[in-house]
Amino acid sequence: MLDIKITRTTNPKAKPEGPLGFGKIFTDHMFIMNYTEGKGWHDPRIVPYQDLTLSPACMVFHYGQEMFEGLKAYKGEDGKSYLFRPDMNGKRTNNTNDRLCIPQIPVEDFVQAVQAVVKVDEDWIPTEPGTSLYIRPFIIATEPFLGVDVSETYLFMIIMSPSGAYYAEGLKPVGIWIEDDYVRAVKGGMGYAKTGGNYAASLAAQVKAHDGGYSQVLWLDGVERKYIEEVGAMNIFFKIDGKIVTPELNGSILPGITRDSVLTICRDWGLPVEERKISVDELIEAQKTGKLEEVFGSGTAAVISPVGKLRYKDDVMTIGNGEIGEISQKLYDTVTGIQLGKLEDKFGWRLEVK
Ligand SMILES: *Cc1c(COP(=O)(O)O)cnc(C)c1O
Repeated sequence: MLDIKITRTTNPKAKPEGPLGFGKIFTDHMFIMNYTEGKGWHDPRIVPYQDLTLSPACMVFHYGQEMFEGLKAYKGEDGKSYLFRPDMNGKRTNNTNDRLCIPQIPVEDFVQAVQAVVKVDEDWIPTEPGTSLYIRPFIIATEPFLGVDVSETYLFMIIMSPSGAYYAEGLKPVGIWIEDDYVRAVKGGMGYAKTGGNYAASLAAQVKAHDGGYSQVLWLDGVERKYIEEVGAMNIFFKIDGKIVTPELNGSILPGITRDSVLTICRDWGLPVEERKISVDELIEAQKTGKLEEVFGSGTAAVISPVGKLRYKDDVMTIGNGEIGEISQKLYDTVTGIQLGKLEDKFGWRLEVK
């Protein structure tokens, strides 16, 4: 158990009015905890949201030793506040930390810190349909040192941002660019870790996709550029000839919590589910023979993001006439239904914030 010291702001901000958008508005408070070699994690505290003062020599600025997580708090149908599977974010934090030589944080402490800071800013959880409070836990290496080494000091912080409905006008299929030149990650690299470096590596392809009129990049494997990996910040699913197929977790793909929820729900529904390698050639072939029935991404931000168009080199594939598929819609309704308490929480995924 962390002994969290709480200092409340004496100057609360006005709550935003109108559309919230994503990631630009921050709540009144934040969580901070320090790590010092020999002492461990210490001084957990909730303080007014504020700028940091750091040495320009901090290792995170030079060699990118950092990690982050992303989850949401929701207002349930009953007016109470809920988190969705926060223990999974805690476990993934430690998998990422291990890869980046960042000290572990006990999962209970991670969940306690998230709960505590959300509780303090509970009145920042928006209530309009589809809105939520986005929670961003992250860790940075703070030792001032220009040598390439593992930092001896860190800051673990949690900031929060009220965010608008991802789909203001209902679920809208997106166009996706299958990238055939740049790669995001390779086996043995950091693909499975949630760390800024993976995103830095992805920007050039994202710019290319946007310039081409596509909203997201779908990555291929880093060695053969042949097998499907994942979308920018989402895992990817295909419905091929009645089966739900998604790339297996091979070390270069981020193990999404929404991915895990989707697999659990599909299996519960009795749908045939396959986690395996899927080549881009298989997709093109399935499309040609009319067997590529649905494509959708899964991630915390959008929950389910239907894909209406896939581009690979000179091939442009339109999926389901560019309209949302039945399973995509049903999965979206089910995951959000469980999150909001409209549906029974049969897997025990909701955690009340108290
Ligand atoms: C966070 C993330 C995902 C989705 O994970 P969720 O836990 O479902 O939000 C997928 N891919 C990448 C690269 C990510 O960073």
